[in-house]
Amino acid sequence: MAKDKLIGVDLGGTTIKFAILTAEGEIQQKWSIRTNILDEGSHIVPDIIDSINHHLDLYQLDKDRIIGIGMGTPGTVDLEAGTVKGAFNLNWKETQNVREQIEAGTGLPLTMDNDANAAALGEQWRGAGNNQPDVAFITLGTGVGGGLINEGKLIHGVAGAGGEVGHMIVEPGGYLCTCGNYGCLEQYASATGVVHLAQDFAEAYVGNSKLKAMVDNGEEVTSKIVFDLAKEGDYLANEVVDKVAYYLGLASANISNILNPSSVVIGGGVSAAGKFLLDRVEKNFKQFAFKSTRDVTEVKLAELGNDAGAYGAASLARNSDRVIA
Ligand SMILES: [Zn+2]
Repeated sequence: MAKDKLIGVDLGGTTIKFAILTAEGEIQQKWSIRTNILDEGSHIVPDIIDSINHHLDLYQLDKDRIIGIGMGTPGTVDLEAGTVKGAFNLNWKETQNVREQIEAGTGLPLTMDNDANAAALGEQWRGAGNNQPDVAFITLGTGVGGGLINEGKLIHGVAGAGGEVGHMIVEPGGYLCTCGNYGCLEQYASATGVVHLAQDFAEAYVGNSKLKAMVDNGEEVTSKIVFDLAKEGDYLANEVVDKVAYYLGLASANISNILNPSSVVIGGGVSAAGKFLLDRVEKNFKQFAFKSTRDVTEVKLAELGNDAGAYGAASLARNSDRVIA
């Protein structure tokens, strides 16, 4: 039987998303289950196995037709060993033998990578990257993650830390980051980073601003509120957005000066601000980028939303030569 289907799994701290795709990357079925992180996350892998087996039965899809399973996961993936460590939002305290268990439980080959790399591949293959071989991806959420694809391959580096664009220093001596360094992009362009900037700017600002009033009154300010107020013309909120765009434009230019990708794709929750944010990022990008990259590299918004991880996971399986012995 010809192998013509891919399974993509996007493992997250609250939900696990699954998709069955054609080899060309059309999603044919998708579903999700809640992530059960109880008992040190020991239910997660068995739940994934059961859910895949159940749905293949349900759709009467013969396992002989499956090219493989791809999965994006939080934590650090050992690509050689097929293990995951440091996935604290899954409650995985010890290194997990994920590949061995899933392959034994499904009889299908599994290829994994970290979730940001998977999302990057998804956008590169089926999203804003237009299936071009050189694409950089930055995702702005509670943190800042990313993935870099060079000549069709994800950059992993020697310790799997390649593509950690969130820890690029954009402000030497700036805000303290969770990684122990100061001035990482994550501290300025994540949802919490935007709020941190808003609080600092509000303190120094003396003019009229709804954002300043909210901060001064101790009201809860979110990154969405900052962007919404900026769109309404709030002066201080626009100062904050300008600063976020400055850091993102600087980071995008630095990545592009090294990799010269066809596009830098910006995704994640904060990017929901859309063209309003993108136009300003682009302006800064053009200012900082080296001429020959500035002329060819486009800064774009991600297109796949929550499906990026599943598409990218399927892409991992598609590009893998892994077989079950
Ligand atoms: Zn950092």
